[in-house]
Amino acid sequence: MNHRISRRDLLKTLGASGWAAGLGGALAGSAAHADEPEPSGFTGSVLKANVVQSTATCPTLVGGEVIQPQRKLSLLDQTDVLVVGGGSAGVAAAIAARRAGATVTLVERYNHFGGLWTGGLVLVVIGHMVKGPKQVCMGIGEEMMRRLEKIDGGIANRGPGKNPTVDAEALKFVMLDMVEEAGVKVFLHCWGVDAVMEGDAVRGAVFESKSGRQAILAKVVVDATGDGDVFAAAGAEFEHRTYNIGLVSRIGNLDKVGSAAKQGRPPRGLGSPTPIAGVNWVNMLGPERDGLDVAELTRLEMNHRRQIWKQIERLRKTPGYERTYLVETAPQLGVRITRTLTGVKTLTRDDIRNGARFPDVIAVGGFTEPKGEEWHIPYGVLVPRKIDQLLTAGRCISAALKTADNIRLIPVCFATGHAAGVAAAVAARDGCPPRAVEVPKVQRILREQDAYLG
Ligand SMILES: Cc1cc2nc3c(=O)[nH]c(=O)nc-3n(C[C@H](O)[C@H](O)[C@H](O)COP(=O)(O)OP(=O)(O)OC[C@H]3O[C@@H](n4cnc5c(N)ncnc54)[C@H](O)[C@@H]3O)c2cc1C
Repeated sequence: MNHRISRRDLLKTLGASGWAAGLGGALAGSAAHADEPEPSGFTGSVLKANVVQSTATCPTLVGGEVIQPQRKLSLLDQTDVLVVGGGSAGVAAAIAARRAGATVTLVERYNHFGGLWTGGLVLVVIGHMVKGPKQVCMGIGEEMMRRLEKIDGGIANRGPGKNPTVDAEALKFVMLDMVEEAGVKVFLHCWGVDAVMEGDAVRGAVFESKSGRQAILAKVVVDATGDGDVFAAAGAEFEHRTYNIGLVSRIGNLDKVGSAAKQGRPPRGLGSPTPIAGVNWVNMLGPERDGLDVAELTRLEMNHRRQIWKQIERLRKTPGYERTYLVETAPQLGVRITRTLTGVKTLTRDDIRNGARFPDVIAVGGFTEPKGEEWHIPYGVLVPRKIDQLLTAGRCISAALKTADNIRLIPVCFATGHAAGVAAAVAARDGCPPRAVEVPKVQRILREQDAYLG
């Protein structure tokens, strides 16, 4: 049955219960995409009736084991460069590759871009400054921050030697705008679960979504999942690591603390200011755990949530802080490091400490305080040793454990993402594997795209 209800009917029905005014306002006020006008009421249609799906490709239970039969996958898309993961690294990679002339498809498992930077509520950008204080992480990430400056409440504490704090919603919006402007094709709500292989070369990736299990074919794939989901599936060598896993939260009404709060030391766990007045973000270190163990992730999520709630209850019992409240816990758990690629090159602690220089530099990192010198990142940390048509970027690049707190910083992630995107576009255009791209060509395009390479 095709049952439609008009806005007038709906409002008449809801009006009886006193909802009409509020709902009418919400419908009129909510933003809609320019090409898709906001409907004036709920509508629904039956697309197909009496649907029964084939079970021919369902896994079967054979002798107590679950066996997946061979099956043909439908193609979701075909492109030059496929970027899996829409965090700081993936968004920069997708925009860079598109601006370098490739067709690009960006796939993200959640409903927004930014990864830990937005969904993880990790709002403060550190590691882009060195002595001077000079900013060394530039390019597409810097462009994002400049765009945030134009939005009221988009970014706070910007300037030389400062670590700016972004508003997660403003950043999601800026990233969406930049991705659309660049002409990147996007699939959200799509989880990358496997690699499509031809010998040692990656030919695409497999995704699970509400549309089922589908493949996207590509000339080059950039794994920007942060966890190396694609390079692991493709058989590239990696290190499996444990690291601290926390859950970030935000507290509100800190601008409404009473006079009693002014006596004595402020309570612990108040966090740091955000661009929204009275709202702080609260970081959490959390215990060292395996971020690839789903039972562990579940336990951590539940324990951290309980701990944050109890902390807020304690805070609200503190004289002066009665009106504070928990704005939200991050939609995304704070998993810092899981898999890191074993690349053609591996960045070491000494490389960073001694300021090593590389002829194939593709990104430059800074420090949390603008006291240190810049450190350079060679192209080889993005390239798997054996597997072709694949690059990685972000917090899972090839780097020693002791460099984790440098390479995983947001600006370094967007800088390596930027580089991987350009290199992928060059490899796709020149018809060569990423390990064979002419690095000077990549460096020239990166500089044209305002990246800083020393
Ligand atoms: C608690 C915490 C505090 C931190 N504090 C700071 C700080 O103060 N300053 C700082 O600069 N950095 C900080 N960091 C580090 C920084 O936030 C991250 O390292 C950085 O944002 C990682 O960027 P990324 O793009 O490499 O990965 P991510 O942000 O993890 O992005 C990966 C993206 O890929 C998607 N994805 C993952 N798997 C799949 C899949 N299989 N299929 C499809 N999509 C997938 C994810 O949803 C996500 O959008 C902190 C990190 C944490 C966890």
